[in-house]
Amino acid sequence: MTTKIAAAMLGIALALAQNAFAQGFPTKPVTMLVPYAAGGPTDTVARVTAQAMAKPLGQTVLVENRPSNGGILAPELVKNAKPDGYTILIHHVGMATIPALYRSLRFNPIDDFEPIGLINDVPMTLIARQNFPAKDFRELLAYVKANKDKVTLANAGIGAASHLCGMLFMSAIQTDLLTVPYKGTAPAMNDLLGGQVDLMCDQTTNTTTQIKSGKVKVYGVTSPKRVPSLPDIATLDELGLKGFNVGIWHALYAPKGTPKAAVDKLSAALQEALKDDTVKKRFADLGAEAYPTDKATPAALRVFLKAEIDKWGPVIKKAGVYAD
Ligand code: ASP
Repeated sequence: MTTKIAAAMLGIALALAQNAFAQGFPTKPVTMLVPYAAGGPTDTVARVTAQAMAKPLGQTVLVENRPSNGGILAPELVKNAKPDGYTILIHHVGMATIPALYRSLRFNPIDDFEPIGLINDVPMTLIARQNFPAKDFRELLAYVKANKDKVTLANAGIGAASHLCGMLFMSAIQTDLLTVPYKGTAPAMNDLLGGQVDLMCDQTTNTTTQIKSGKVKVYGVTSPKRVPSLPDIATLDELGLKGFNVGIWHALYAPKGTPKAAVDKLSAALQEALKDDTVKKRFADLGAEAYPTDKATPAALRVFLKAEIDKWGPVIKKAGVYAD
């Protein structure tokens, strides 16, 4: 038998074994790794999605937080996990911005993962501690420009959505503020509520409740359209920052080499989850919008991720921000 034939037979045997394995998938709980702290916006999307995916999968989906500054640890852990469908990653727009922000990165968002599908879009809001002096956006601009050496802006580290939004805000108003990084915007929100930091850009999945209860001040929505659950809050574009547009999307990934049948089952479960009325309502209450099910697919996420990397790369290079 030639080496070529032996290799081909080995390949077929491997594919058959993988297929047989994936037929029964999942036979035990699936773990979804979250790159940021528990109680934050990515964690909220993860928990709502995981709970709804459990039903079609017939197995629990465990949510495990592996927070790090910038959300770069969880992708690395998932990249190195066994590619069997039992360890998956939830991440947001960071998967598209991180490649341009880090000079050295231990994972490649395109080459190291099997895309599963898009979950939702979440707008962001620019908020401040309750007793921050500025009462509206106009006063905010005047105050931060006059006090730029003492105003602090919280974020979840370089690569986080809050970092991206804050960076573009500072660039739009041509004022650099002192940034304070956390391992997620849940701990950042705690410090904002406690008055230890002044400002933050964060997803409505984390800010809606605090805004509605008046525990934080809100200055504007960062995406181009107003948020239906916060109809009175103007967009930054309406307020004068023309073209300001930061919206956050979330998606699921498996390690590269995960059998296609397992990826397809995870994707089908995600599609079922997004059709679930409880999920739709929960997302809507928090200002988030679920993707239509034809976007909750590996093919749609593959195309979208590449387009987002191409979109954000030049914007970030222009802003000139890098991590090591
Ligand atoms: N969504 C936050 C951010 O990217 C992080 C988090 O989910 O805690 O800034």
